[in-house]
Amino acid sequence: MRCTYCLKELRAGTGTMFVHKTGKLSYFCTSKCYKDAIITKKKRKIKA
Ligand SMILES: [Zn+2]
Repeated sequence: MRCTYCLKELRAGTGTMFVHKTGKLSYFCTSKCYKDAIITKKKRKIKA
């Protein structure tokens, strides 16, 4: 699998897994990628 944010390859069992309300799964290699992805989504919501 790959980091949803930076697309870096992840080893199974590493990184952070995030479950969306829709049930979709996202994987992040680091908490930084996780935070950036969540912040980016929030910014998009504000723009929209
Ligand atoms: Zn990443």
